[in-house]
Amino acid sequence: MRELRRTGHHGAGWRVVFGLAGLSAVVVLGLHVLEAATPAAAPAGHRGAALTPEGRKAIVYAQYVSTEWPKLGEPTVGEWLSIVAEPGQTYEEFVRTARNLRSDQRHTIYLLPLGRMDEATQKVVTQMGEFAQAYFDCRVKVFRAVELPKASYVHHRKQYNAVDVLARMSRYVPDDALALVGVTTADMYGGDLEFLFGLASLRRRVAVISLHRTGEAGTPEFLRRALKSFAHETGHVFGLRHCVFYSCCMNGSNSLAESDGQPMHVCPLCHDKLRHALAFDPAARFEKLAAVYEDLGLEAEARMARERFVWARGLAGATTKSEEP
Ligand SMILES: [Zn+2]
Ligand SMILES: [Zn+2]
Repeated sequence: MRELRRTGHHGAGWRVVFGLAGLSAVVVLGLHVLEAATPAAAPAGHRGAALTPEGRKAIVYAQYVSTEWPKLGEPTVGEWLSIVAEPGQTYEEFVRTARNLRSDQRHTIYLLPLGRMDEATQKVVTQMGEFAQAYFDCRVKVFRAVELPKASYVHHRKQYNAVDVLARMSRYVPDDALALVGVTTADMYGGDLEFLFGLASLRRRVAVISLHRTGEAGTPEFLRRALKSFAHETGHVFGLRHCVFYSCCMNGSNSLAESDGQPMHVCPLCHDKLRHALAFDPAARFEKLAAVYEDLGLEAEARMARERFVWARGLAGATTKSEEP
């Protein structure tokens, strides 16, 4: 057992009861998974759950009709939406259910490395911290690594049960945390899912991501995938459900290939959800994000952030915000 001290200013350190577990995990595959949350109530005058995904899309597209954002096409066989029937989440539904909002009391994202990591992966965790500061426009603290909970290891699967890991992590969420995000290179599964890239709770401010199936640490692909998983799962922690409307970081994913085809950034709808939760200035956020992407050598993402900076600056100056719900 190792002691994990708070890096913050909240007095006594707390003890982590995670025991040492075997880390020689077998590979599984990664799905972004979403823990069930309280279903959103149907907005007034809205048929809510009775709407087909197509009907829901029509509403959202109408709200965002002026955007040029690439819409999500029909899923091909094997893609997330060909398997999981998700109706999506409108901005109104998000606002109605969002509980994890930035405040003077809650303002920091904590990263918790879980288990042993090589140097290249440790560096990615540090880069994840830089990225998180810009992406979520908030303070970030990185804890010292602790072992994965031994009790969460399922021997016959040679995998960690991510649901169990999250339940244990949720006991240690600092009071001022917007999110506590565990990062591991061990393999994980969750529920009926054979493997996953990450798992998040919409209610308990915790998420965990597995870098077991993201390729070789030290490559741009690994960094990109790690940051994408982190942004996706942390988005869930803020209450964002999978985006079924646009090409977006919050799209569900059933494979590495599907995930690789999805962007690092969120669509305008999910952007507005994040802005509601975090109350950031969009232009300032994109400017900072562009600088971080450049620093990390992610040129395509930097270019996109610069474009969005121009968009956001225009939005701020507009008297009619046609892109806002
Ligand atoms: Zn997800
Ligand atoms: Zn989206």
